[in-house]
Amino acid sequence: MGQGILVLNAGSSSLKFSVFEVGAGGALQAMAVGQVEGLGTAPRLKAKGADGGVIADQSWTTSDVANHGQALQEIATLLRSRFSGQELAGVGHRVVHGGPNYSAPLLITPEAMDTLETFVPLAPLHQPHNLAAIRAVQEARPELPQVACFDTAFHRTQDEVAQLYGLPYEYFERGIRRYGFHGLSYEYIAATLPEVAPEIAAGRVVVAHLGSGASMCAMHHGRSVGSSMGFTALDGLLMGTRPGNLDPGIILYLLQQEGMSARDVENMLYKRSGLLGLSGIGNDMRVLQESDAPRARLAIDHFVYRISRELGGLAAVLGGIDAFVFTAGIGENSAHIRRLVCEQAKWLGIDLDAAANEQAGQRISSVGSKVSAWVVPTNEELMIARHTCKLLGL
Ligand code: ADP
Repeated sequence: MGQGILVLNAGSSSLKFSVFEVGAGGALQAMAVGQVEGLGTAPRLKAKGADGGVIADQSWTTSDVANHGQALQEIATLLRSRFSGQELAGVGHRVVHGGPNYSAPLLITPEAMDTLETFVPLAPLHQPHNLAAIRAVQEARPELPQVACFDTAFHRTQDEVAQLYGLPYEYFERGIRRYGFHGLSYEYIAATLPEVAPEIAAGRVVVAHLGSGASMCAMHHGRSVGSSMGFTALDGLLMGTRPGNLDPGIILYLLQQEGMSARDVENMLYKRSGLLGLSGIGNDMRVLQESDAPRARLAIDHFVYRISRELGGLAAVLGGIDAFVFTAGIGENSAHIRRLVCEQAKWLGIDLDAAANEQAGQRISSVGSKVSAWVVPTNEELMIARHTCKLLGL
């Protein structure tokens, strides 16, 4: 390996990583991907090499690998043993919140860290872990340049009208606005469309990122003009364990009439709702698709219903659409969900090619379809590695 870029994505109980080799002209090649999961409960490192073969599968007791710093040490040990003699040129991080102003990745400096700290209240469940990973690298390798890539940045092109909530305007100025998330995924799709679907790349495109978290983005000329996610990643579509769009009066009711604490409500909104809460079975779409239980079916139907509603809204924002793109775990892998969504979207002019959909071809709509439908795999890690290379001048 020549120079390498390490990409880190820190969650509350996991540290995901990818290593890219920087080749001639900045070409990036994935060399390893993996994660330490179960931090605080049952820590385990799993990783695969460039050919998909397992290069690590190791477990520890809770106290041995208890935090992101210790997880990073284990990842570093693995990487040294696999890629000895090769040097890291920098580290790119997924950072969930770039606040109202950051519309591009940022080279980490002490001042930048101070600014990113001020966004912690906007994403208290994610931002502290992202920043913990940056600090862990700073401690272990202070000389390594680090880059923060924001999930919100891609949406900063949206008009003020699209970012507003109908609260007193001073709250907008205080940061209560629609930020939108999954921005690195949408940016990757926007960068990929000119290659895979040049005829729609500059058009009016709605992209559905359907994973454990799910959102949709309206793009025109490859720029975000609208998003289903808002102030937090709770808004918009039904998700694995999150409810998506909710009447705010429900929160008041739960607090005032049901006597729930704010912490209880938070727990329900992030962990006990969505596909899991509706089905009572689980949050994994594969399990629900295979289940005969009526509530598994109900959860799927509601998942699709919410996508259809959001699609109608985003199509209105764009003044009509030219194409619809599916991506992420469910979008890339579930022909069943894609079929249900496209059937509901017939009125918009989407005509599904059933065989292409089953084979997950790139274009899954018929030749004569007025609005085309596509499956485009996302790659947020590659997007982060690209940004990191660019900012470091590699
Ligand atoms: P995240 O990165 O947000 O954790 P992913 O993008 O990996 O999420 O998506 C996870 C979701 O994708 C899960 O609900 C999982 O069930 C679903 N998924 C993965 N493969 C399939 C498949 N073959 N069919 C249906 N759903 C799938």
